[in-house]
Amino acid sequence: MPATVEFRPQQHFIANAFVDSLGGETFATLNPTTNADITSAASGQAADVDAAVVAARRAFDEGPWPRMTAKERATVLRRIAGLIRTHASEFIALECLDIGMPIAQMKGLAARAADNFDYFAGVIEELAGKAWQTGAFLNYSIHKPVGVAGLIMPWNAPLMLSTWRIAPCLAAGNTIVLKPAEWSPLTATRLAELMAQAELPEGVFNVVHGYGETAGAPLSAHPGVDMICFTGETTTGQAIMAAGAPTLKRSSFELGGKSPVVVFEDAGEDFERLVDAVVFQIFSMNGQRCTAGSRLLVQNELYEQLIEAVAQRARNVRVGDPFDPETELGPLIRPEHHARVMQYIDSAREAGARILAGGQRPERLPDGNYLEATVIADVDETMRVFQEEIFGPVLVAMPFADEAQAIRLANATPYGLAAYVWTNDLTRAHRVAQAIDVGLCWVNSQNVRDLRTPFGGVKASGIGREGGDYSFEFYCEQETIHVALDTPHVPRLGLGASA
Ligand code: NAD
Repeated sequence: MPATVEFRPQQHFIANAFVDSLGGETFATLNPTTNADITSAASGQAADVDAAVVAARRAFDEGPWPRMTAKERATVLRRIAGLIRTHASEFIALECLDIGMPIAQMKGLAARAADNFDYFAGVIEELAGKAWQTGAFLNYSIHKPVGVAGLIMPWNAPLMLSTWRIAPCLAAGNTIVLKPAEWSPLTATRLAELMAQAELPEGVFNVVHGYGETAGAPLSAHPGVDMICFTGETTTGQAIMAAGAPTLKRSSFELGGKSPVVVFEDAGEDFERLVDAVVFQIFSMNGQRCTAGSRLLVQNELYEQLIEAVAQRARNVRVGDPFDPETELGPLIRPEHHARVMQYIDSAREAGARILAGGQRPERLPDGNYLEATVIADVDETMRVFQEEIFGPVLVAMPFADEAQAIRLANATPYGLAAYVWTNDLTRAHRVAQAIDVGLCWVNSQNVRDLRTPFGGVKASGIGREGGDYSFEFYCEQETIHVALDTPHVPRLGLGASA
């Protein structure tokens, strides 16, 4: 899609209608390759959020969606999946334009968004309660939808990340107000159009665009919202949790990460495969990935060889226009984010770390938010680049002596989302994987997801697990029903019986 295409202003989607903000406020969405305006988007305020919550509330309290059978809802979800597949190339182009992700890496993302709907349609059809029988009672549990969900999403992979939440949330019978990130509004608007085309009932899916402070904050505090699903930065999660506390909202948080890649000296058997995975795990998705393997911890014996090989590959990573199929690393999302990532690189330089590759804007790309694939060696655990999430194409590396030190370093940040362990020693692989405090650990692999497995982080990386049946522990209430079968055996209590 040429960047010169003119777009309609992005409107909110409330009760099946595209509308402007009640007060007419808008903001610009920018093309990260030029930082020129793509189009404007409605900037939601408390009154717009309120209108969307009222629509979602009505759809939940009075509409057909929560009352339909799981099979009927699954049919609608599969229609949505089909429509996303039909429009896959359009979604890919929109996302590529909006966030600067290389088009070669976007192919799987539209397919994955469609799979999210198909997959959770299948899970909800199979979801079953439990029954417990005693002599006198039949006790059983049923799943019920929770109510209105507020979904507050980040900009790094908007379509994939939001559909990962939208699909199970709808499958369970809830209704939604989605607040996309202000830096990436395009695919959410298009998704809303397809929802209407798929005949999702009115008010079940609503979108309010806008900034965190003006649209996200009123959504997270709204008394008509029963639960909040948030993906984003840890500090934002803290604010959202505080905003939801007075109305006791249930919440599922997928937050930041600083994931270690722990490489033991015996992992060098298939060295090229190892290097390939390390490079992919930090430089794909422009390094703006929650599960990025951003801290490379290597046993002394293999350290120099591995960091040099990774740096060599980093120097070859092709930085450029995200629409060029040869591009491997696109621009960062915004100039302010680029400046923030550069500050991290400068802080490492000043602290005495070695910049082995990259570290600056490529000279041939003076505009846009481009940055070379960067490898920083010889960091230590006190440095900001070791402790804090950079969320860009920056890998930091340091050596370790033995297993105990590797585990200690892997656990030495506030985060606990993912870890990657590389070793050919079977027992060590399990020992180390279990000793690292994370929600997800891959052994001898980059991040390869299976939608059935529980996904989520520990420590500052999140609260809760989603995926497979685990999603429905969050998106459903469980009610237990206790039925007396045999009255004579239910104990008589005798209160007041003697009068
Ligand atoms: P962010 O926290 O800045 O913003 C996320 C969303 O929160 C946006 O929609 C924003 O408008 C909204 N928001 C901001 N302030 C708010 C407030 N006070 N009240 C309510 N909403 C508010 O995050 P980001 O920069 O968009 O995304 C990058 C972050 O997301 C990184 O930390 C990354 O690791 C994390 N992330 C985590 C996962 C995961 O699965 N764990 C996945 C993707 C991204």
